[in-house]
Amino acid sequence: MICPKCHTKYLANLKTCGDCNKRLVNASLIELPISEITWKSLPQFEGKLYSDMITEIFNKKDIPYYVKINWTSSAYGVHGIGISSDLVQIYVPELSYKRASEITLSIIGTK
Ligand SMILES: [Zn+2]
Repeated sequence: MICPKCHTKYLANLKTCGDCNKRLVNASLIELPISEITWKSLPQFEGKLYSDMITEIFNKKDIPYYVKINWTSSAYGVHGIGISSDLVQIYVPELSYKRASEITLSIIGTK
């Protein structure tokens, strides 16, 4: 378990962070994995479908990754009301970044 705010690691039987009074989360659910790996974000794109295709390839090629989906992003502010734009951001280790970005661009196309 890990505190989502201060990233302190706790034993699994604890529920809240003593420092921040935040509810602890499973370490694998946190946005930024706590490790010595340097994660780089791939180009952001729209569409869960693409992310499924991309992560499937990453799985086959043994590229570690984690996906962050911003369901309610209004970053572009131009979408009509009621259109859900799921902005997808995939993070990969720096060492795999070149390979991963090539795969990503081959799926989403360059713009
Ligand atoms: Zn904390």
